[in-house]
Amino acid sequence: MGVPKRKTSKMRLRTRKAANRWHAPHLSKCPQCGSTVPSHIACPSCGYYRGRQVLTLEGE
Ligand SMILES: [Zn+2]
Repeated sequence: MGVPKRKTSKMRLRTRKAANRWHAPHLSKCPQCGSTVPSHIACPSCGYYRGRQVLTLEGE
């Protein structure tokens, strides 16, 4: 049977577990309207992504 040769150190274990830990999404500012938007997400308030309109907004 395969048995680990060395005990996993606390740091190594924690570093491994840190990869699966939840962290707050990265927020950036929309260049179009200036509101805070998660990165890689089209802006929900103006519908712009990468300098062009990608969402159709109702109620204008
Ligand atoms: Zn925007």
